[in-house]
Amino acid sequence: MVRVKGVQEGSIAHELDIVAGTELVSVNGRDLADFLDWEFLTADDELVIEGRLPNGEPVVYEIERPEGAVMGVELEPPTIRRCANRCEFCFIEGLPKGLRRSLYVRDDDYRLSFAYGNFATLSNVKERDIARILEYRLSPLYVSVHATPWDARKVMLNNPRVPNIVEQLSRLANGGIQFHAQMVIVPGLNDGDVLEQSLRDLWAFGDAVLSVAVVPVGLTQFSHLYTGKPMDRATARALLDAIQRWADRALRDRKTAWVYGSDELYLLAGRELPGAEHYGDFPQIENGVGAVTSLRLRVRDQLPTLPRLDGQRIGVVTGTSMAPLMPELLALLSSATGASFDLIATENSLFGPTTTTAGLLVGADIRRVLAGRQDLDAALIPAECINDHGVFLDDEPFGALRDSLTVPLYPSYDFIDVLAREREARLAGAAA
Ligand code: SF4
Repeated sequence: MVRVKGVQEGSIAHELDIVAGTELVSVNGRDLADFLDWEFLTADDELVIEGRLPNGEPVVYEIERPEGAVMGVELEPPTIRRCANRCEFCFIEGLPKGLRRSLYVRDDDYRLSFAYGNFATLSNVKERDIARILEYRLSPLYVSVHATPWDARKVMLNNPRVPNIVEQLSRLANGGIQFHAQMVIVPGLNDGDVLEQSLRDLWAFGDAVLSVAVVPVGLTQFSHLYTGKPMDRATARALLDAIQRWADRALRDRKTAWVYGSDELYLLAGRELPGAEHYGDFPQIENGVGAVTSLRLRVRDQLPTLPRLDGQRIGVVTGTSMAPLMPELLALLSSATGASFDLIATENSLFGPTTTTAGLLVGADIRRVLAGRQDLDAALIPAECINDHGVFLDDEPFGALRDSLTVPLYPSYDFIDVLAREREARLAGAAA
């Protein structure tokens, strides 16, 4: 059963008077377990939908869908599948109370992997799930592989009951499913020979494995379970060397680099990030692979369109890992706009100084570095710090933080988004 949260005006559901709270039980005789069933089973043109009204009364909707008409049903969010692993590098268990609630959820859900690109280990996938993935062709999936040798993977995920990922991927690949894979590297555990074996196994899947991201283990002050070695510069360089060997082979044989080091890996290794051509269509940009290169590209492309902001002083808040890369970009922005940009490299007070990613800064960090800054005309903060509901990881609403500061505060993905708004505001002003 799935429950209706709302319906879209002018849709089929609206015409049928389907209301919030209605339970939808089956479509054409097949039971509905979740949003996937709903999406796929209602793709037919002729539907018999059985349900229950909010007052408990049974109801049947018989539908002949006119061409192009949308069902327009928004469902209540699904119950998230919880993770069955206990990775040593997982920081969630040690988190203090009072943070954004979603942070405490250890999700490991193949459905969200398909729908939103969340990585899943497939550790909790049952036979019926495999059958659904194949029937609904849930492809591509985003899979946290970490290691293909079974023993190494059991240790990585700290779960002796982990299924054999090579067998799982084989079954899915034989059914036409493709994957983006992720390998979080714990030094001494899944680098070296284990990484080589894993890349060999993934390569053998051919077109089924679309890309592989190699990501250094990220530890925070809450990673209490971790007994491994931290990532260091020598390990990061050895990883990039291995990645390069495989990428050279992939470029030769498949015309794509196929395996990519995350941006953080390059920063740790002290090596220059590759250019845009290396990343193709940036298949794992959401995973921090090529994000810096993409940002540089967007900024350079848009420079000629930016408005003059002579005399303005703009603060740019970022994490400590991105800070060394910023001066070059800010110099470009400054010469294009005439504004001066003040880089504010910010330590993470919640997760500790080893957490250097800009997107994990919390409201308290922003407040700390911007309180009393009356010399700034505006401040840009990483938009990734705020979720869709406008809340930082420490549960501070963006609006509350903005109202408490004297400097106007703007979440920004790439500077251009905010600076372009200034340009549009001026154009609108000129037209008025
Ligand atoms: S890091 Fe490991 S334990 Fe934590 S949510 Fe991911 S798979 Fe589960």
